[in-house]
Amino acid sequence: MQNGHNDVQLNDVLNATPIAVAWSGLTSGHVEYINSSFSDLFGYTLDDLGNIESWYLRVVSDPQHYKTVIEPWVQDCFLRNTLVDIETTLFCKDHSVRHVRMCSAIIDDKRLWYFNDVTEHWVAEERLRVRSDMLEMVAKSSALKDILNVIVKQIQKESPHSLCSVLLFDKVEQRLRLGAAPDFPDFYNEAIDGVQIGLNVGSCGTAAFLGKRVIVEDIFSHPYWKDYTSLARHAEVAACWSDPIMSSKGDLLGTFAIYKRFPSAPTDKDFELISFASNLVSIAIESFRAQEELQNRAYFDHLTGLANRGHFFRQCESILSNAAEQAFPLSIVMMDVDHFKQVNDKFGHKTGDLVLQTLAVKSMSILRRSDLIARIGGEEFAILLPFTDKKEALRIAERLRESIEKSTVLGEGNRVVRFTVSLGVAHRKNGACTVDSLLNHADKALYQSKAAGRNCVFALDFNSVPPLLSL
Ligand code: GH3
Ligand code: MG
Ligand code: MG
Repeated sequence: MQNGHNDVQLNDVLNATPIAVAWSGLTSGHVEYINSSFSDLFGYTLDDLGNIESWYLRVVSDPQHYKTVIEPWVQDCFLRNTLVDIETTLFCKDHSVRHVRMCSAIIDDKRLWYFNDVTEHWVAEERLRVRSDMLEMVAKSSALKDILNVIVKQIQKESPHSLCSVLLFDKVEQRLRLGAAPDFPDFYNEAIDGVQIGLNVGSCGTAAFLGKRVIVEDIFSHPYWKDYTSLARHAEVAACWSDPIMSSKGDLLGTFAIYKRFPSAPTDKDFELISFASNLVSIAIESFRAQEELQNRAYFDHLTGLANRGHFFRQCESILSNAAEQAFPLSIVMMDVDHFKQVNDKFGHKTGDLVLQTLAVKSMSILRRSDLIARIGGEEFAILLPFTDKKEALRIAERLRESIEKSTVLGEGNRVVRFTVSLGVAHRKNGACTVDSLLNHADKALYQSKAAGRNCVFALDFNSVPPLLSL
């Protein structure tokens, strides 16, 4: 590495190699040489580097990774002439990152360092991994917030010095709700949560409103942010690039945003990263919603939104099999619309549907949070009243009857349609009993109500001979 002719040749060879090469003094650790691939890759000149260990400390992007992996490796390199490959992410001079595979060797009194740029490969692998992690979480029905957090963290890893957020679009209220912004301060998330979409509502509110990507390179001079500059200053963000997230059908689902600490314009790579993230987030939200919809279908009645028969039976069985709850009173009410066939015949099936929906809404407004009402047949409803004795169950049933009797719906031609229900109450004081037997009793009590002329309530004690009481 020393004399005239050889010196020129070696320098040419080193500068022609695509691998970044540097060497430092074996004992001093001072960097004495870097080839042109090194400056091309990281943007540093020889004067920027100084001591190799302190340079590593500055450029390893993850401090934890530096402490546990890089520092011991660098020190090991000074002690032994082993060629151990190691992978890490390093900051370039312009704050971008490269993922490199490094190795080291001793030649005479020099310590050589080689850096092989594997960023493209690493990015591709990381993206595959986050995509499969996300799909696995969706399949396991993880909370949407957790799924979005994984995506946000991954994008932040690929783009250090960035903060990312996902906001979800509330279509009814035309507002954005917090989806995931794990590294933003609470005061910022609280201020953004529920913001109305519109022009000049920051990058995200505007992107959601326009349905177009919004790039704000400098928050403090941009009209979209004029009402939010103090919030941004407080959160120490200066640039925000936001993409609207669209469903496969073209509906707005929310926004994905990358924030920067300093005024910045996105590079081609940033644009590509935003597109990747938006696509992933849209898959996550759509898959989550589809699964939610499937679950709803499995548990709820599509016409009234109440629990369906299967869900009601499963809930009742779980409560009735719970020994602790066997010590408490419990009641079940069966409710059936009177002469519903006539309602359909007279006003049409659509009006009949409206009656069932109105009845569901009325009942929900009377029942308590702990009660469970289900549509268990065409115009038949069952209500579970936990911790409710006979007297209280009768009172609730009577309130239902009365409120429904007073309700009306408007049929075709604005004709006022009235309707009534008959109810049967079964009660269990305490001790074990089955859902079927209890429902059977409630059904018998309901039959009593029908026989007594409809629009009334009858009750039957479990294990007693009907009828015990009529109102
Ligand atoms: P009762 O007072 O004895 O209960 O008489 P009813 O006419 O209510 O009883 P019936 O069992 O003879 O008729 C029930 C009707 O409910 C027949 C059916 O067409 C109607 N029905 C069932 N499901 C629906 C539904 O989803 N929508 C509408 N509009 N009607 C329904
Ligand atoms: Mg009926
Ligand atoms: Mg019926």
